[in-house]
Amino acid sequence: MKIDGQCHCGAIAFEAEVEPDSIRICHCTDCQTISGSAFRANVTAPAETFRLLRGDPKSYIKTAESGSRRRHMFCGDCGTPISSSAPDNPPQYSLRIGSIAQRAQLRPAAQIWHRSALPWLGTLSTVPAKEQG
Ligand SMILES: [Zn+2]
Ligand SMILES: [Zn+2]
Repeated sequence: MKIDGQCHCGAIAFEAEVEPDSIRICHCTDCQTISGSAFRANVTAPAETFRLLRGDPKSYIKTAESGSRRRHMFCGDCGTPISSSAPDNPPQYSLRIGSIAQRAQLRPAAQIWHRSALPWLGTLSTVPAKEQG
């Protein structure tokens, strides 16, 4: 499925091909911190399908406890997370779904690092909800 996306301020735009039923939810504590949210949702795009259409993302190299290094790309102006990948010549990009225009059509397939999932996530359906803020 062809997708396209952009950061909040519009400086960065991209397109790629992804499998629509392949979102991975990551509950690791690094993702909670770097995303500024309860968990991160990613979809994988083969590198040959990922194209930056506009802008020059900043990157942050995160070194995991295991020693593995990942390049996190984000907009240096508005801070929107775009992707993570191997630092050099990545075979694929893990795209953050929040900046993808078609994100509502993508569905999750797996959750990882569930041992650090926030304990209230399973109760969301019972939390009072309004259609707008
Ligand atoms: Zn931006
Ligand atoms: Zn994670």
